[in-house]
Amino acid sequence: MDLVTVRTLRTPSHRDELALAPGEQPLAGGTWLYSEEQPGTTGLVDLTGLGWPDVERTPDGLRLAATCTIAALLRIAPEPAWRAWPLVEQCANALLASFKVWNAATVGGNVATALPAGAITALLVTLDATAVVWTPDGGERRLPVADLVTGVRTTALGAGEVIRAFDLPVSALTSTTGFRRVSLSPHGRTGTLVTARWDADGFVLVVTGGTPRPLVLRWDAVPTADEVDTVLAAHDDWYDDPHGSPAWRRAVSRRFAAELVAEAEGSEPAAADGVAR
Ligand SMILES: Cc1cc2nc3c(=O)[nH]c(=O)nc-3n(C[C@H](O)[C@H](O)[C@H](O)COP(=O)(O)OP(=O)(O)OC[C@H]3O[C@@H](n4cnc5c(N)ncnc54)[C@H](O)[C@@H]3O)c2cc1C
Repeated sequence: MDLVTVRTLRTPSHRDELALAPGEQPLAGGTWLYSEEQPGTTGLVDLTGLGWPDVERTPDGLRLAATCTIAALLRIAPEPAWRAWPLVEQCANALLASFKVWNAATVGGNVATALPAGAITALLVTLDATAVVWTPDGGERRLPVADLVTGVRTTALGAGEVIRAFDLPVSALTSTTGFRRVSLSPHGRTGTLVTARWDADGFVLVVTGGTPRPLVLRWDAVPTADEVDTVLAAHDDWYDDPHGSPAWRRAVSRRFAAELVAEAEGSEPAAADGVAR
């Protein structure tokens, strides 16, 4: 849609041209920005001119530029040891978005938009990713993606801060992952998305979609289904919108969590496509 309040569009090519003025918003793929009114936004600053490489392999794992599109993420050739990699495609497909959106939508835009159904947020949180944030004073700070999304459409980003990249540790990339998703209709927005990751060091369970912000639960070893269920039953912050009631979201998340624990115990193989029926 036309953004009638926007008067300027800048495309910086260096960091020293990036500083956001009052009223300016970063523009990445624009798939969310142009989907609704942006009251108060008078300028857009296109991040794609900064030329960040989509993907960098580092000694510690993988760095994804915030401007890496979902399509480019899907084109990465994983190392053979990256057992977690099936989660990438599962989460990309969890978005209520066609391949046309994948070609423009970026990983940073998905996290910064902070929708409960942010499946790239789910992916990054499950893989213990750290966000690299550029601060307006020319500095940089790092924080877990799990702490970056703080609620429905809210983040821990301060004024003028821009997400530069996400660092994914090799320890997470080489662990095993599980995935369950449900929506009220076959092509509907995520009702709840429950992901898990486990290795010799422990088990992590992440709920998104069903909760306003990512719910991250960790154990030193694969817990019992009862241990997980006790925590989820007591959790009282479930998302409420036309895509599902809080009670339904909690119920189905508990069921998915039990399935993922069973999967981690090796007692139940994952469904071929990872999607619960
Ligand atoms: C058909 C359709 C279906 C969709 N389905 C889903 C869905 O299921 N789940 C979901 O979560 N979203 C969905 N979206 C919304 C959106 O497309 C995605 O969240 C997408 O990943 C946003 O990325 P973008 O690069 O287009 O962001 P943009 O639209 O460019 O920006 C989104 C917001 O993030 C900010 N931003 C972007 N990059 C940065 C950065 N590096 N640092 C700081 N702020 C930044 C922008 O200022 C803006 O506020 C859908 C959109 C469409 C059109």
